[in-house]
Amino acid sequence: MSEEKSLNFLEEIIEADLAAGKYKSIVTRFPPEPNGYLHMGHATSICLNFGLTKKYPGYTNLRFDDTNPVTEETEYVDSIKEDIKWLGFDWKNELYASDYFEELYQYAITLINKGLAYVDDSTAEEIATLKGTPTEPGKDSSYRNRSIAENLDLFTRMKNGEFADGSRTLRAKIDMAHTNMLMRDPLIYRIKHAHHHRTGDTWCIYPMYDFAHGQSDSLEQITHSICTLEFVPHRELYDWLIEKLEIFPSHQYEFARRNLSYTVMSKRKLLQLVNEKHVQGWDDPRMPTISGMRRRGFTAESIRNFCDKIGIAKRENLTDFSLLEFCLREDLNHTAHRAMAVLDPIKLVITNYEAGTTEELTSENGPLETMGTRLLPFSKELWIEREDFMEVPAKKWFRLAPGAMVRLKSAYIIKCEGFTKDENGQITEIQASYIPGTKSGGDESGIQVKGTIHWVSAAHAVRAEIRLYDRLFKVEDPSSEEGDFKDYINPDSLQVIKEAYLEPALQHAPMGSRYQFIRKGYFCPDKDSSPEKPVFNRTVTLKDAWIKEVKKN
Ligand code: ATP
Ligand code: MG
Repeated sequence: MSEEKSLNFLEEIIEADLAAGKYKSIVTRFPPEPNGYLHMGHATSICLNFGLTKKYPGYTNLRFDDTNPVTEETEYVDSIKEDIKWLGFDWKNELYASDYFEELYQYAITLINKGLAYVDDSTAEEIATLKGTPTEPGKDSSYRNRSIAENLDLFTRMKNGEFADGSRTLRAKIDMAHTNMLMRDPLIYRIKHAHHHRTGDTWCIYPMYDFAHGQSDSLEQITHSICTLEFVPHRELYDWLIEKLEIFPSHQYEFARRNLSYTVMSKRKLLQLVNEKHVQGWDDPRMPTISGMRRRGFTAESIRNFCDKIGIAKRENLTDFSLLEFCLREDLNHTAHRAMAVLDPIKLVITNYEAGTTEELTSENGPLETMGTRLLPFSKELWIEREDFMEVPAKKWFRLAPGAMVRLKSAYIIKCEGFTKDENGQITEIQASYIPGTKSGGDESGIQVKGTIHWVSAAHAVRAEIRLYDRLFKVEDPSSEEGDFKDYINPDSLQVIKEAYLEPALQHAPMGSRYQFIRKGYFCPDKDSSPEKPVFNRTVTLKDAWIKEVKKN
């Protein structure tokens, strides 16, 4: 069944461009600055840029926007490539804005030769003072009318390292009274004696964002350069530079940043969480980073579906995190194998089952026949969930209670015969008898029970650590609250269960596998996991716990 989906505004533009013969094929790019790990906002941009060239003829480049020498690290470059591949996309060319430093330098010379750029000796404060305000025009710098020859000489000497950081800049000569503040003689080059992760010490002048981005687009013949809304005012400068340099006319289009509720999505803020140890690293399963979500058990498919479902907007908004979880459940429900795991164990002894005997019972791996079946060991002593027993049952309680019957999933119907308490009144063991002839799949007893509970055989179970995650922040939009966003961190976002029991096969669950622990949620092995000490993450609950909470109140 195909669903007719309306085009988003970029698809409309591209279809019109293709129809008009403006381009035969399109070129987009994803341009991360390698100063942190990618987050869900980047995932949106990746799905958009790569998605467009999957849909229309053309390709997408990966361009590292590494024009700022101080913050970039190769660790980030590697993680970015890994994340894009994991999301299921492939770039045509892996490029670095720093590879264009020579071309960009020549473009600056071109502007100087056209009388469209000048070297300014003013300090940053002087430049700021002369800039004016949105309602008042700025004033010309006293260096604005230097001769072309003097500008060429000074710019060459800037490049040769003759001047200290911050002592001079190169500015485009546009209009100090322009209504767009960004057009008031913007800085295009600054002096920075800093080591660059790729170009080393070759350069001590670096282009500003506005002078690198559009020119890089142009060098790569990008047809549709897509960025987020805060760059709307930059478009005028983007176009001006391309026009004056007479280079390939790339065009910039803007869409709204993706914001998700109950988290933050800025590398700067995420870096603070990492550095100040509020989380255990960029790939902490509570982080909205692609690596964190992958570690938590999110599938690439669910993230792509999420991006597809919501589409792109022209106005900023806050997307509900539960929408992403919805897409995840939708995917896992028909891909994750079912398994049994007891997270809060209490011993159940089947009094009439022979000690030392083990039966292998067949259980389905999932709702689809193609998922197959597995064998589960059953024996006299089992672990069940403490919450599945009530000493004094509530109304409509269909689980275990003195005298009550339930079905053990994929096994027998049992009847509770009694329980044992310790000196503190804590229940330590439950006793039950099983009813022969009620084995799942071959039950002809006619006995009807309303409750089914999960279990694992105590003698065969694997002890594991389980990590349960909740939202990282207590409020919907921590960035818009008063004070520091970190004041709103949820102190209970991680709960560690040290003693949970899993069915034996899970001891060797491969990395990347995903399970539905029946009645408990979706789980996956964590990267800390080993057969000696299995560790599982809860990826997501079976239902949206937060919705329930609201209804309860
Ligand atoms: P951050 O504020 O987290 O550092 P950024 O925009 O500075 O984000 P870049 O590495 O410069 O990060 O971004 C690479 C690409 O990803 C850009 O095209 C940018 O527009 C896009 N992008 C970044 N954050 C978001 C977001 N929240 N929603 C949509 N696109 C985003
Ligand atoms: Mg940035």
